[in-house]
Amino acid sequence: MKELVEQVREAGVVGSGGAGFPTHVKLEAQAEWYLANGAECEPLMHKDRELMVHFGREVVDGLEKAADCVQAQKTAIGIKSKNRNAIDAIQAAIRRDSMHVHEFGDFYPAGDEYELVYGITGRLIPPQGIPLNIGVVVNNIETLVNISRAVAGKPVTDTFMTLTGLVKTPLTTWLPIGLSVREALQIAGGPMIDDFAVMESGLMMGKLVQNLDQPITKTTGGLIVLPAAHDLIKRISRPTAAQHRIGHSACDQCSYCTELCPRYLLGYEVKPHLVMRSLGFTQMGKELWNQNALLCCQCGLCTLYACPEGLYPREACVQGMNDLRKADKGKWTGSCDIQVHPMKNSRRVPIKMLMNRLGVSQYESHAEYQEMRVEPARVVMPLKQHVGQAAEPVVKVGESVRRDQLIAEIPDGKLGARVHASIDGKISAIQNERITIERG
Ligand code: SF4
Ligand code: SF4
Repeated sequence: MKELVEQVREAGVVGSGGAGFPTHVKLEAQAEWYLANGAECEPLMHKDRELMVHFGREVVDGLEKAADCVQAQKTAIGIKSKNRNAIDAIQAAIRRDSMHVHEFGDFYPAGDEYELVYGITGRLIPPQGIPLNIGVVVNNIETLVNISRAVAGKPVTDTFMTLTGLVKTPLTTWLPIGLSVREALQIAGGPMIDDFAVMESGLMMGKLVQNLDQPITKTTGGLIVLPAAHDLIKRISRPTAAQHRIGHSACDQCSYCTELCPRYLLGYEVKPHLVMRSLGFTQMGKELWNQNALLCCQCGLCTLYACPEGLYPREACVQGMNDLRKADKGKWTGSCDIQVHPMKNSRRVPIKMLMNRLGVSQYESHAEYQEMRVEPARVVMPLKQHVGQAAEPVVKVGESVRRDQLIAEIPDGKLGARVHASIDGKISAIQNERITIERG
């Protein structure tokens, strides 16, 4: 058990699906359930499906090893029913009676950790809690592949990504960490228009790429190219002050944002319409942001789907959470009695309807896995691709390194993750929490 924790720590494995929590720390727990999250629900993204189809054995192997490590008696993999080939590949790889596939419908946000845990185990995570509070550990699919590879001595040097939208050849593949967004897009034939914008890791919960020279990291799940003039890009590019100003004057308190909020429907006290009301009654809402924002998971459904006025309830919730934390009032003090809303199932949002609403249905593609070896001339390796402290360089400028070689270590006694070279080459710079490696 300790051996796996050490192997995963040495390999620099972090949660690939979100902020990058160091996986070896999760493996130190004890839990009843170990879940694999393959219920990918970001529109246009297909990386989890492709991983399960093409690397199903490694997914199952990583899950078995991780489950044994935390002494979990039950294991399950959440997959959408529509991804039949992924289900078949995983079923064929399963070797234990204690492991099963749990099928989800094609709704957003099926892959939210709270939704996944409830869907499979019937348990509800306490407000502001983590799955471990109710005896569950969850990893995303790529993380499990990386756990399996860590045992084989292979550190994390590549990230599995979908490249899609307005690119010539949408595809999903492994790419070396540290490759620039600009070069990554060229792997898919490049953008098909001159005036484009790029979303990183999803349209709903991802970020707008501000600089095409920024490197891809362990947590980059994909790149989606859209026209710069697309409504979605224009909406998320609006400055925060303008978002709140519009909300201040235009919110009619219809409460659709709350009635369709997945966390509210799961039984948590998330009420974005009340957070929006704060905007109306205070100076930009800064004084009275209330607890109704604290349990928001930032799924974006209220802003990008529910609100008929095109307002920004998610952004109001995010601002509210940040303000409460700064004022040292970020802890949930409300009720912990969670009752699932009776309308939860009938108010789920089908992905097809969400894509129509976002205006991205025409960009859907299979983006199937293509095996390739990408060998860039240069990579820029961020020292902080994870939750915790930045890793500390263990190499010097001018030093030659080999792919897989350790280049940065976790600071003593801190939470963090190691970083390994993703190409053979020479260290040409160490600055701004980044190590640059030039091939040659
Ligand atoms: S859906 Fe829009 S208009 Fe209605 S309460 Fe929410 S923010 Fe206001
Ligand atoms: S982003 Fe909106 S819909 Fe999603 S959890 Fe937060 S308040 Fe609810």
